[in-house]
Amino acid sequence: TVVVKVGGARAVDPAGALEDVAELVADGRDVVVTHGGSTAVDDTLDALGMTPEYVETPDGVVGRFTDTETMEVFEMVLPGLVNTELVASLRSAGVDAVGLSGVDGGLLSGPRTSAVRVLDDGKRKIRRGDHAGRLESVDTDLLDLLLADGYTPVVCPPMAGADDGDVTPVNTDADGVAAAIAGALSATVVFLTDVPGVFDSEGTLIERVETPAEWRTVETVADGGMGRKVMAIEDALSDGAPSAVIADAGADQPVCSALDGGGTHVA
Ligand code: ADP
Repeated sequence: TVVVKVGGARAVDPAGALEDVAELVADGRDVVVTHGGSTAVDDTLDALGMTPEYVETPDGVVGRFTDTETMEVFEMVLPGLVNTELVASLRSAGVDAVGLSGVDGGLLSGPRTSAVRVLDDGKRKIRRGDHAGRLESVDTDLLDLLLADGYTPVVCPPMAGADDGDVTPVNTDADGVAAAIAGALSATVVFLTDVPGVFDSEGTLIERVETPAEWRTVETVADGGMGRKVMAIEDALSDGAPSAVIADAGADQPVCSALDGGGTHVA
C-alpha cells in the first residue's frame, strides 16, 4: 500500500500525480490519496472578505487559528471543492475514487483542542475557540474495506473531534493525516510538494537517510511547511510506515519516480 499526499499549498498541478496514481492502481497496488488545501481556504476567505488568521506557538510553530466561521469555510473548501475536484480527476483517469473527510465514518478521530498557547507581541497567551484537534486514531477497517473492494480513498481534513461527548469537525494538519494513515496501514508514504525534497543547511538535496534516528538530526534545517513534513515522517515511521519520501509534485511521473528513488528518502 502507498499513501500519496498531493501538494496543495501552492499552485502545483496535481495532474502528473493523479496519472501516476491511476497507473499504480491499474497495476494492482492499493493507494490512499490524501490532500490539504490551505491556499484554497485562504483564497475563499479572501473572496468572502474574511482574513485568514495564523498564530505562533511559544515553540515557534506557525499554524492557522480556526474560529467558527473559518471552520465553516474549511468544510466548504476541503471536502467540498478540493476533494470533489480530485475525485473527479481520478475518476476521469479510470480510478474508482471515493472522497472522504476524516469525519466520514469517523475515519480520523481524536480530541478537540480548543485552547491554544500563542505568542502575541512576544507575550504568552491562551487563545480559546480554536477548531483544531489532535489526531489519535485512524479507522483502518473502513480503509481496508474500500481498498479490498477496489476503491481508492481520497482523504482530507477535517477530522472527527471529540468535544464534550459530541463529534465536531476540526482542523488537523494534512501532512499529519498522511503520516497517520501510512503508519496505521504500514504503508510507504510519498509527500509531494513544490520543491525536489528536503535541503540541508548548505542547500544540498538530502537524497537518502537510512534510519529514523538519523532523520531526527535533520529537523533543524527545515522550517514552515517542510518542518511539518519532517515531523510527519518521524511520526509515520514510528507508527509503522516502512519508508517515507518527500518529492517534487512537478517532476515527470512524480509518484513513480519518488518510489524509484527520486526526492528525499527515509528508511
Ligand atoms: P505543501 O503545500 O506541498 O505541503 P509546504 O509549503 O507546506 O508545501 O512546504 C514546502 C516548502 O517548505 C517549500 O516550498 C520550501 O520553501 C519550504 N522549506 C523550508 N525549509 C526547507 C528545507 N530545508 N528543504 C526544503 N524546503 C524547505
